[in-house]
Parts: sequence; structure tokens; C-alpha cells
Amino acid sequence: MKRSHLNAILLLFFFSFNAIGQSSTDPRIYDIIDAVSAERLESDIKMLASFGTRHTLSDTTSDTRGIGAARRWIKGQFDEINADCEGCLEVFYQNNLIKEGENRRIPFDVNVVNVVAIQRGTSRPNDFVIMSGDIDSRISDPNNYTDESPGANDNASGMAGTIEAARVLSQYEFDASIIYVGLSGEEQGLFGGRGLAEYAGEKGWNIIGILNNDMIGNIEGVDGVIDNRTFRIFSEPITGELTERQKISMRFTGGEVDGISRQLARYIERMTSTYMPEMNPLLIYRLDRFGRGGHHRPFNDAGYAGVRIMEAHENYNRQHQDIRVENGIEYGDVIEGVNFNYAKKLTAVNAISLAGLAWGPDTPKEVSIGGAVRPSTRLKWTEPEDDRVVGYKIYWRDTSSPQWQYSRYVGDVTDYTLEGIVIDNFYFGVCSVADDGHESVVVFPRIVLRN
Ligand SMILES: [Zn+2]
Repeated sequence: MKRSHLNAILLLFFFSFNAIGQSSTDPRIYDIIDAVSAERLESDIKMLASFGTRHTLSDTTSDTRGIGAARRWIKGQFDEINADCEGCLEVFYQNNLIKEGENRRIPFDVNVVNVVAIQRGTSRPNDFVIMSGDIDSRISDPNNYTDESPGANDNASGMAGTIEAARVLSQYEFDASIIYVGLSGEEQGLFGGRGLAEYAGEKGWNIIGILNNDMIGNIEGVDGVIDNRTFRIFSEPITGELTERQKISMRFTGGEVDGISRQLARYIERMTSTYMPEMNPLLIYRLDRFGRGGHHRPFNDAGYAGVRIMEAHENYNRQHQDIRVENGIEYGDVIEGVNFNYAKKLTAVNAISLAGLAWGPDTPKEVSIGGAVRPSTRLKWTEPEDDRVVGYKIYWRDTSSPQWQYSRYVGDVTDYTLEGIVIDNFYFGVCSVADDGHESVVVFPRIVLRN
């Protein structure tokens, strides 16, 4: 064969290889990382901290102080972004009236108001991936709604990150919809998240997952550790109701640490490792910090996948503290405790994960598995209704590994046997692959094949 022919064949092979969704990286993802601005984050976090307090129970009429002024400013930012992208966002307030005495942190009736911006997807408009931050802040007394409560890291950082992600991603079109939301009422009992999860249920939204950002700007732990690379992705092991049959099956076939929130966490970890290898994401195998809460939980309660993204090293002197100096220690969640470049990196982690999921295809359905007493493993599934799916990828891992370790692209089939792979020694999952190479989250099989 002539060398030029060989080259032509190799070239053809290369392109068809890419065409079946095997291209390893998407250059648009690197553009998104570069577009996130530490300067804009700094300016927005300072602005949010400047409202004095953003406590859920604080003043709503002033233009300069309190949560009313803060949420109007946030809505104004989304409105501006919407003008820049020629109407790509639907921006609105989502209100939840919480009645006096709902718990001890609600001493009077209060409107817990979320600020929502929806970027509609082109081919899957009813599938939603959500990024959230919180509007509200607090100090030592959870019901003190008048004194200075800048909440610079908790959680102006997550709120500013959400606004910045909207700025960057609104320059692109996606297949699935993306929601950017400022949630309120977090410190009073996760009321904003509960309200939006209920609203999603009423609207029949299909939620792919929520990336809840709560404290993404602190790099100096209370123990003195300084680390601007590491962050945590919290996810609970199982989200949503398993049927009685699935629970019994789980005892004999596994899947105790493979719920939908965990798969979302693994997706974010994989996007980060692929596109931002300088970062050090930690998959934390628990709902949240020990005994503590966050706004992904009400979504988990409603059966939706959701994770918390946050810094690795917390500084408790700067959380929920009255601003003061005591025994030479400075307390308070002030702007000096926020590292804007780190907030930029964690915002980029969110933005690329949202982009990957919203460019990615719908998941395979009815994923089932079999292979007992055979030296092979068979997976079978049905196709989603999504024209962009060009094939499927099977992932597997050692039973004790936190992340998927091995994968095989199997093309456009819905039944595949991995020869020589013994089912007993691994966990398995399947994802869809789109024409541009982006993948869905992995689906863990919960149906057992009997043959
Ligand atoms: Zn807090």
C-alpha cells in the first residue's frame, strides 16, 4: 500500500473515531474556564457584603441594606446578563411564605424569596441542571437580623459564583436547560431550597441535578492549613425511594454507595480531573459536613440528585460569628477571608460541569445487569428519546474505589457483554455519549438480568 493511502485511511479512521463520540476533550470547556473572572467575583462578593446584613428576616424596603436590596441587586445582575445574551434567560422571583413558628428561627411570617434565571435548552428544555448559591447571611445569634452580617464567604461567594457562571455560560447554547438560582432562608432552615424543589415538582421539571455552592472562597483553615487547590464534593449514598424489591436486591447485588447524587458527584470529579488537573477534588461520601446542613438537602429529600460543592478547609472563626476581636482573634465572615482566585476556580468547576451535563445527552433507561456464575458481565438498557445519542459507554470500578476506573465505549448497541470481566469483583454503570463527545451521568443498574 502506498504511504499516502495509508495516511488517508488513518485520517479517515481518526475522524470516524471522533465522530462516534470518542474525542477526548472539548475545546469550548477550556474557553469556559478562562472566561470566569476573579475580578468580577471580587466585585460581586464585595457588593453582596455591602448590604450590611442579608439575613432572611432583615429589612426588605431599603435600597441599600437588608435582604430585599440584595435580592433586587441579584435580579438586576441576571436582567443585565439577559440583555447581553438577547433574552436567553427567564428571570423571576420565586416566593415562599413561611409562617411564624415553623421553627424557632421563624419568629414572624416571612417571604423567603429565591431569585431564578433559567437558560432554556434547545433540544431538552424540560431537563434541568441547577447551580445554586445562597442570598442570606447570619451571625452568632441565628435570629439577629439587624446587626452587621457581611456573609462574605457564607455565602456571598457561592452567590457570586452562580451569577458569574450565568455570565459565562449565557454566551453558549445548550441542549438541556440550566438554572442559576440564589436561594434564601438557608440559615433559618433550608426554606428556599425546599420551596424551589416543590416548585420544580409542580412544574414537572426533570432535574438532572443541583450543584449547591456554599462557601467556595476560603483557603485558610481554622487550623492554619492553607490550600488553594483542594475542594469537596459532598453527596449522599442513596437519593430517592428504592422499591422494596430494589432494597432486597441491593443486599445481594450491591449498589449501596451508587445513588444518583453520588453519580453526579463522580461526574463533577471527572470533569475537574479531565479539564482542571491542577485542582484536587475530594469526593466526600456523605450528605454534608458532620451533623450540618445545606441547600442541596431539600432537593435530595424530594428525590432529586444534588451535591454540595465547597472549600476543603473551613475557618470557623469566620462562620456565623459576630464581628469582634476576642483574645486577639478576629471573628467574622468578612471580605478579607475570601480568596477570589480560589472562588474563580470553584466557579469554573461548576461552569464546566453544568456545560458538560447540558451539552451531554439523556441517560440510558432501564439499565439492567447479569453475569452470576459466568466469567463475563452483561449489561442491557433501552435508548433514551434523544437524537444526539451516538453510543454508550460502560464504566466499572473495584468495589472499594470511590470513582469509576475503567470504561469501554461500546457504540450504538443496547446489550453488551464484557468478556472476561467477573461481575463479583466490580461495580458497573452505563452512560450515553452525544455526537460531540459529552456524556450523561452514569446510571447504576438496579434491574437484575435473569439469563
Ligand atoms: Zn451558613
